[in-house]
Amino acid sequence: MLSEFDLIAQFFTRSRRQHRNVALGIGDDCALVTPAAGMQLAISTDMLVEGRHFFPGADPQMLGHKCLAVNLSDLAAMGAKPLAFTLALALPEARPDWLAPFAKGLLALADEHGCELIGGDTTKGPLNICITVFGEVPPGQALRRDAAQAGDDIWISGSLGDARLALAGYRGDIMLDDATQHTAGERMHAPTPRVELGLSLRDIAHAAIDISDGLAGDLGHILERSRTGAILDVDQLPAGPMLARHALEIRRRFTLAGGDDYELCFTAPSGKRDAVIAAASSCNTAVTRVGSIDAAPGLRLRDANGAPLDLPLASFDHFASP
Ligand code: ADP
Ligand code: MG
Repeated sequence: MLSEFDLIAQFFTRSRRQHRNVALGIGDDCALVTPAAGMQLAISTDMLVEGRHFFPGADPQMLGHKCLAVNLSDLAAMGAKPLAFTLALALPEARPDWLAPFAKGLLALADEHGCELIGGDTTKGPLNICITVFGEVPPGQALRRDAAQAGDDIWISGSLGDARLALAGYRGDIMLDDATQHTAGERMHAPTPRVELGLSLRDIAHAAIDISDGLAGDLGHILERSRTGAILDVDQLPAGPMLARHALEIRRRFTLAGGDDYELCFTAPSGKRDAVIAAASSCNTAVTRVGSIDAAPGLRLRDANGAPLDLPLASFDHFASP
C-alpha cells in the first residue's frame, strides 16, 4: 500500500526544473514564489467534486486535465499569466492505476502553460480535487468583470454548447450517435483554457469572464458588476461543431445557457475590432462578435432579423431548487 508521502513523491514531485518564479516547490511547509517585480498576483481556486462536477468512474487522465484547465481558465479570463498551482486531493484509496493517468493529464497541461505544481495536501476521503492557481498580471491590466462600458462590442472565443450537448446525450435527453457523443464529450471532459488569448487581450479588452455556467448567466455577471446592459445577437453565437447540426431551438438554448464551455466572453471598444481579430489570430483562436454593451439595464436577446427573443436564461446554480 502506498503511503501518503510515497504517493506525493511518486506522482506529484518532479525533478527540480528551473522555474524563474518558484524558489521552493513541494516538500517544505510552504512553497516560496517570487512574482516578477511590480506584478500583481492573480489567485483563483476551483474545486471538482465526484458526482457533482464529474461522473463517478470518470477517466482519470481527462479529469487531471480538466481540474487544472478550469483553474487556468480563470487566469485567462483575468489576462493573467500562469505561474504555479497547489493541489488538494481527497482520495478514497491510493491506487497507482488511477493516480498515474491523473498525474499525467494534470502535469501535461501544467507543462504546456509553464505552471508548476508547488504543493498541496493529500487525504483519504470521497474523491474531491481542489486546485489553487497563481498567476501574474501588471497592475491595472487585469480584465475585470466591472470594466465593461456602453458602446463596447461583446465577443466570444471558440464555440459554445458542445459540452452541454454531451450532457444531454449522457442523460438520454437527446439521442446522439457514438461519434458525436465522443467528440462532444471531449469538449466536456477536456476543455481548452484560453490563456494565450487572455494575455493578448490585456491592452485591448475592457471586461472578461470565462463561461463556465452558461453564457447568459456569466455575461450577466459582467453586466451587473459594470452596471450596464447588453443586446445579444443569439443567432450569431458560435455553436460547437456537434451542436451546429441540431435544430435552431436547441442551438439557441445550449449556446446561451449551456455550461462547461470554458470559452472567454469579453468586451472591447468598437474602435478596437481589428486589434481583437489580430490578437485572436496571433494565438490561433477564433473570436466572434455577438452583441454590444449599452446603458439600458438587462440582457436583451435578438434573433437573426433583429427581432426581440424571449428565451429562458437560467444558468447553473448548485444551490438553486430543481
Ligand atoms: P503538512 O504536514 O504541512 O500538511 P504534508 O505532509 O501534507 O505537509 O505535505 C508534504 C509536502 O507535500 C508539502 O510540501 C505539501 O505541499 C506537498 N503535498 C502534499 N500533497 C500534495 C499534492 N497532492 N500535490 C502536490 N504536493 C503535495
Ligand atoms: Mg498536509
